[in-house]
Amino acid sequence: MTPIKDISFLNKKALIRVDFNVPFDGDTISDNSRILAAIPTINYVLENGGSCIVMSHLGRPKNREKKLSLARIKRELESLLGLVVIFVEDCVGPEVKKASQRLMPGQVLLLENLRFYKEEVAGDENFAEELSSLADIYINDAYGTTHRAHASTSTIARYFAEKSAGLLLEKEILSLKKVLESPEKPVTAIVGGAKVSSKISIIANMLKVIDNLVIGGGMAYTFILNSGGKVGDSICEPENLGDCQEILNLAKKNNVKIFLPIDVVVSKSFSNSDKQKEVDIQNIPDGWQGLDIGAKTRKSFSDVVKQSKTILWNGPMGVFEMSSFQNGTRAVAEAVAEATKKGSFSLVGGGDSVAAVKKFNLKDKMSFISTGGGAMLESLEGKVLPGIKALQ
Ligand code: AMP
Repeated sequence: MTPIKDISFLNKKALIRVDFNVPFDGDTISDNSRILAAIPTINYVLENGGSCIVMSHLGRPKNREKKLSLARIKRELESLLGLVVIFVEDCVGPEVKKASQRLMPGQVLLLENLRFYKEEVAGDENFAEELSSLADIYINDAYGTTHRAHASTSTIARYFAEKSAGLLLEKEILSLKKVLESPEKPVTAIVGGAKVSSKISIIANMLKVIDNLVIGGGMAYTFILNSGGKVGDSICEPENLGDCQEILNLAKKNNVKIFLPIDVVVSKSFSNSDKQKEVDIQNIPDGWQGLDIGAKTRKSFSDVVKQSKTILWNGPMGVFEMSSFQNGTRAVAEAVAEATKKGSFSLVGGGDSVAAVKKFNLKDKMSFISTGGGAMLESLEGKVLPGIKALQ
């Protein structure tokens, strides 16, 4: 892949696929992180004498829904870039063509929601070729959509001689490489979240590179059941006992040490304020459900994390959204932050772990926070993502 730094943007037009799929609260953008994350690449092209044509999807429109127009992003983009952004109410067609031809170095043109055309998701060649005719260079900086073989993320690349990953995508690729290909040892993967079924293939792939596997959150109970423990009313997937055993066997074969919870905070119901107590995880009474890891486990998990040189974290240790069950996730987040401060490399990914790290104000204490949920999970499974492959 040609690094972006090896491309000359002087008097050239760059078509940049970004991820402006941001959440709204009424008319206000409630989290502008994704727009913010795209700014360095746009500025890089402008500073190097080029112009930018910026394209993205927003939501899952069924038709031209006004509430999913990229016009709603324009003002925020202008404010973050500190310049006027030109907006066209389409992403292909004569008006767009005219606007792109008029575009001067230093200017930014924002196109309308790509998903207003069903051809985008279908990966349509004609649509991709029409988009490609707007610019000289193609840049993909939308890591969150690289696992999709859409027209603007994958098909389009074949129509450009000059193409590259943007600065954000480049960082995402490098961070994953650091964990999956040449990690400094010991390497620890922390996995959590509701279900083991959604993470089996990731764990199986990770076992090839890690030394320690820390398992918390709802998925731990299926492992506990597998080992003969009593899980009470905790979330559990008995149909996946075989997969848990396979993971344990594979871990043994690869010399990976597994850390499961020892104790757990249980509650009478899935509520912040019902009766709670801490019990041995092997003996959860009927009528009680485990919603967070207990004090002994917090110590055990934190100790292994603090001794690690490379840390990958995906999934919370408990129902961190409720204050009574956030301590486990907070303890792990603090341990990752401490290890990072001492020079370890930490990569945090997956919507909920990222939300947790933000909630505990530890976002800036991690080496890298991935912007892609599904894309990161597929990368960790060892899949080659179509959006990245297309740039090679
Ligand atoms: P996932 O999307 O699979 O990573 O799951 C994240 C969700 O798992 C979060 O919303 C957590 O609240 C939830 N979760 C974590 N631990 C538990 C648990 N012990 N019981 C039920 N849900 C949990």
